[in-house]
Amino acid sequence: MAFAGMCPYLKNTKKSDGAVCECATFRFPDKQARRDVLYGYCGHPDAWRGCMFKVVMDSYYERKFASEAVPPAKEKKTRVNKLASDCCAKS
Ligand code: SF4
Repeated sequence: MAFAGMCPYLKNTKKSDGAVCECATFRFPDKQARRDVLYGYCGHPDAWRGCMFKVVMDSYYERKFASEAVPPAKEKKTRVNKLASDCCAKS
């Protein structure tokens, strides 16, 4: 679970040589490289906003939610609506 101030896409940091975020699974060459990425980006209060994987995931969710958007409901043909549209059409 992501905490306030860290990247919301970070999923698992339990592996000693890796980490999993929603966009990628990382395998670091050593602990210092892992620390540089996790502390420098994923867990940093501001730096994660500049991560290219974060930008990719933001775009992914924008596309996903745009494709899942529910189209606006059609206006029901009621007698009142028909009278209103007839009235407006005549003037
Ligand atoms: S900062 Fe980047 S690499 Fe780290 S969890 Fe977020 S998207 Fe993944």
